Amino acid sequence: MFPVSVRCLNLGWALALVVLLASAAFAQPATKPRVLLLATGGTIAGVQPKDGSGQSYRAGVVGVDELVDAVSGLRDRAEIRAEQLMNIGSNNMNDETWLKLARRVIAGLADPAVDAIVITHGTDTMEESAFLLSLTTSGEKPVVLVGSMRPATAISADGPGNLLDAVTVAVHPAARTRGVMVVLNNTVHGARDVTKVDTLRPHAFDSPNAGALGWVEGAEVKFYGPAPAPRGEPRFALPEEGTFPRVDVIYMSAGTDEVLIQASVGAGAKGIVVAGSGAGSMTSAARTAVRTHTKQGVFFLRTARHSAGPVAASDGGAGDNSDAAVGTLAGTDLTPAKARVFLKLALLKPDVTRDELMKLIGEL
Ligand code: ASP
Repeated sequence: MFPVSVRCLNLGWALALVVLLASAAFAQPATKPRVLLLATGGTIAGVQPKDGSGQSYRAGVVGVDELVDAVSGLRDRAEIRAEQLMNIGSNNMNDETWLKLARRVIAGLADPAVDAIVITHGTDTMEESAFLLSLTTSGEKPVVLVGSMRPATAISADGPGNLLDAVTVAVHPAARTRGVMVVLNNTVHGARDVTKVDTLRPHAFDSPNAGALGWVEGAEVKFYGPAPAPRGEPRFALPEEGTFPRVDVIYMSAGTDEVLIQASVGAGAKGIVVAGSGAGSMTSAARTAVRTHTKQGVFFLRTARHSAGPVAASDGGAGDNSDAAVGTLAGTDLTPAKARVFLKLALLKPDVTRDELMKLIGEL
């Protein structure tokens, strides 16, 4: 039995502890950040047969609730509202699924009960969806796309860690006004510059021209530069009715002729992205076909088939092969796939001209 003075001391300490804990509780933010988690499928939701090796798996199988439950600590970081928007491999993303995704994201961002959006997505076309969303949203609330290179059932699956990182980045105060980002392998990339650079390994994404935006480790997020000023309005609107115009990508290699260009125009393409050799070059046969079709109102955007470096406006040297003479547009440092996304949106503008398109590309 303690003497009375010792018991009083204990009571005092206990009371102090209660007061301390209570004030600590009040010091915590009242609520966690609210994240809308949109699941679209991909390898992150993929299942590998028990004895399967490497590539024998199916993308887009695991449901969103299972994905969330597999990540311990996810619900500590944010209040998660999860929705299964679709469950497909992103190699099957198309105009229809893009519209569904973009419309849901736009509605989610307008919801005052949503602080940020995280989208689980296959890695094949993640950079295209990210760019589409970045061009059609204002960029104020963070939108983070995340995927994985190994299926959910693989040994050392990278999906759970990537998903936790994505939510961590999305709710981080420094992420506001950074718009649409891609998070994989502890790295944060911007939607405009990120591209997939590896077929299978977990470090599959890079931003070869601009560099990554930052990194995430545990609960810590570091951005290398300041956040851009809020843009206010999205750059482009989605089609009010109908869908996007047809835009194809045509790859230049030694001996490429006019056949694919003619087929694309014949199929109704309103725009064609040339994935050119070197700094956006075309074969003479391709250029002749391009010259013919630009006169008929088809827009051609020159890009490079390589992963880095710009395609600048060409003065054509001594001949009449300049962009102005042929009617082509220089695609700056957009990859062919991103240039296609740009054209699909830009060609929705009524009676858009080559000069207007040039200005729009310059602003990206
Ligand atoms: N084919 C898969 C997809 O894009 C690959 C992945 O998610 O990594 O859906």
